[in-house]
Amino acid sequence: MDDIALGLERLLAERGVSRRTFLKFSVAMAATLMLPPIVGTKIARALSAAKRIPVIWIEGQDCCGNTESFLRASHPTVSELVLGILSVDYHETIMAAAGTAAESARTATMQAFPNGYIAVVEGAIPLADGGIYCTVGGKAFSSIVKDVCGGALATIAVGSCAFDGGLPRANGGPTGATGVSAVVPSAKVINLPGCPMNVQNLTATIVHYLTFGEFPATDSYGRPLFAYGQLIHDQCERRAHFDAGRYVQEWGDAGHRQGWCLYRMGCKGPETFSNCPTAMFNDATSWPVKAGHGCVGCTMPDFWDQMTPFYGRLAHVPGFPMDVTADQVGLALVTGVAGLTALHAGASYVRHKGEERRTPTPEGGTGGGVVPAAAAGGGTSPASSTDTNGSGSEQAV
Ligand code: SF4
Repeated sequence: MDDIALGLERLLAERGVSRRTFLKFSVAMAATLMLPPIVGTKIARALSAAKRIPVIWIEGQDCCGNTESFLRASHPTVSELVLGILSVDYHETIMAAAGTAAESARTATMQAFPNGYIAVVEGAIPLADGGIYCTVGGKAFSSIVKDVCGGALATIAVGSCAFDGGLPRANGGPTGATGVSAVVPSAKVINLPGCPMNVQNLTATIVHYLTFGEFPATDSYGRPLFAYGQLIHDQCERRAHFDAGRYVQEWGDAGHRQGWCLYRMGCKGPETFSNCPTAMFNDATSWPVKAGHGCVGCTMPDFWDQMTPFYGRLAHVPGFPMDVTADQVGLALVTGVAGLTALHAGASYVRHKGEERRTPTPEGGTGGGVVPAAAAGGGTSPASSTDTNGSGSEQAV
């Protein structure tokens, strides 16, 4: 790779980032994008020759959580620098300008780079009553979204609120909140739902564009397949405990301290598509399940309504085949139990109902785990168990 151009590489060297680290980052990005390591070479070349891309980052009904995630892109450190090759010309939370000067910066970028800037939208867009529930500079946010996204090269909707309305839309929220795609259906929109989105997925999306000249392939929800193409359940470090029937029964019990499966505590990993277990958060050190809390399903549509109560266990344990897609699950959710049943019936992976037997807890109590399949003489599944926390019945699949 000696002929790699010196653009970004030289910038990195000036900031004390070695070429080796840069190349490791490029290979890591290839892995995040589900591409073979050799593509890291291509990524390194592309990033070294990349030109700065103007970005307009607008915020509506939001909590700035995605901005926080963006500002903390520190692992690997090179991520900050790669995001540094973006020219963030407008970002209300972090820009120095205010008032008319800030608004002028936005319109100036739109005029200078027609169809040549990336729009990033954070937060929901209220449409009720003419959009009066969120205004910026005296204009309805919905009209700003139409203007900015309508003239962009592409739009990246970060977080669940920009994806589909998120929390402001939950339980029939009164502001008519919705997501970017519903407001600007003609725009090219890449959705990065999550509460907040994982900045590594934002970095990888941009790296993909800089490397290949196009944005990554998406599912029917507009979510990149590299990040939202697999169930959390199939990547989870606690999956062996799920399969063996070892479940946390209550917070702080022996199973919880030993890292057992959180299904009974309400984990939504079996129905949630995301790369949280591999991308992780906080310098890639942890993610909710690793920290001891169940997944709440925040990357899924309408998760505030569909995935609540967060501590209620799923009524169905999806014995989904490993190759099931988000689109199939979305269809099943739309068609309800019948859809799920049909999906399961056609699956190549079938989880047999087994007989659950109470066994002594590791401390010698009686409220603990389930006998592993081998020991029980048959399969064990939470689907076969009795609902012990009052959160709803469980069914075999
Ligand atoms: S139910 Fe949750 S904690 Fe258990 S294996 Fe699946 S994703 Fe992991």
